[in-house]
Amino acid sequence: MKTGFVNIFGKPNAGKSTLLNALLGEKLAIVSPKVQTTRHRIKGFLTEAGKYQIVFSDTPGIIDPKYKLQQHMMQSVKNALEDADVALLLVDVNDNWEENNELFDSLKLKVPALVVINKTDEAKPEKIKEAEFFFAEKSYCKKAIAISALRQSGIKELRDAILDLLPEGEPFFNEDDLTDLPEKFFVAELIREKIYFLYQDEIPYHTAVLINEFKEKSTLTKIQADIIVQRESQKAILLGEGGKMIKKLGTIAREDIEKFLQQKIFLQLFVKVRPKWRDNELQLKEYGY
Ligand code: GDP
Ligand code: MG
Repeated sequence: MKTGFVNIFGKPNAGKSTLLNALLGEKLAIVSPKVQTTRHRIKGFLTEAGKYQIVFSDTPGIIDPKYKLQQHMMQSVKNALEDADVALLLVDVNDNWEENNELFDSLKLKVPALVVINKTDEAKPEKIKEAEFFFAEKSYCKKAIAISALRQSGIKELRDAILDLLPEGEPFFNEDDLTDLPEKFFVAELIREKIYFLYQDEIPYHTAVLINEFKEKSTLTKIQADIIVQRESQKAILLGEGGKMIKKLGTIAREDIEKFLQQKIFLQLFVKVRPKWRDNELQLKEYGY
C-alpha cells in the first residue's frame, strides 16, 4: 500500500482549505474569502482499502506573525513541514508568481513537492500554461499541476501525481476514519466560519469559539458555545441590535452543524469578553490553539 503525509502549504487565500475539501470529497476545513480563516492544522484521511491511505493536512497560510495566536499558527506550519512525505505548494494563478516562488524556496523543503496552480477557472489557458512552465523548472518542484479546487477540476490528476511520490507502507489510521479530530472541534470551526461570513473587518480575527457543552441524546444534540471577543464594543457588534445578529449567526451555524452531524441540534451561543486573549498562553490553550 502507498501511505504517507501530504501537507498543503501556501499564502493566505490560495485555496488550501478548499483544496483539502476537494481532495477528500467532504467538507472538513472551513473556507472564507477573508485571509487567515484557518488557525489549526487539520488532517483528513483519504483511504482506498488495500491501495493507499493519504493523510492530508491543511495548514494556516504562511505569514509573518504579529501576535501569539499567529505564532502558534506558524508553529503548526513548521510542524507540517517536518512530517511531510510530499508537499503541495499551492499558488493562486492570478497572484504574483515570483513572490510565491520566493516563499516556496524559503521553506527549504527536504521532501518532493508538487506545485499546484489553483483558481484556473479564473484565468486564460495561455496564462495557466505559462504558470506551469514558470514553476515546473524550479528546483523544489517535481511537477506543476493546474487545478480549480472550487470547481474540482484537475483533482484526479493531482491525486495520481501524489500517489506516484508516496512511499509504500502500512496505513496509520482506521480505514473508515476521515479525521483524527473530534466532532466538537468541527462544530466550533463551523461557528467560526459563519462569524467570518457575517461580520466585517477585524471582528473575526478577535474571535474564538469554545464549546462548553456537547450532549448527544437520541433525538437531539445540545450544544452550548461561548464566543470569545477581546472588547465590550466587539461583544455589542456580535450581538447586534436587540440580539439580531447573534440570532442570525445561530440560525446559519445550526443549519450547517446539523448537516455535518446529520442530527437535529439545539444550539445556544453566549458572547464573553476576554481582554487580549490572543496574547495569553493560558487562554490560547483553553481555546485549542
Ligand atoms: P486558504 O486561505 O488558502 O485556506 O483559502 P480558502 O480555501 O479559504 O479559499 C479562499 C478563497 O478562495 C475562498 O473564497 C474560496 O472560495 C476561493 N477559492 C478557492 N479555490 C478556488 C478556485 O479554484 N477558484 C476560485 N475562483 N476561487 C477559489
Ligand atoms: Mg484555510
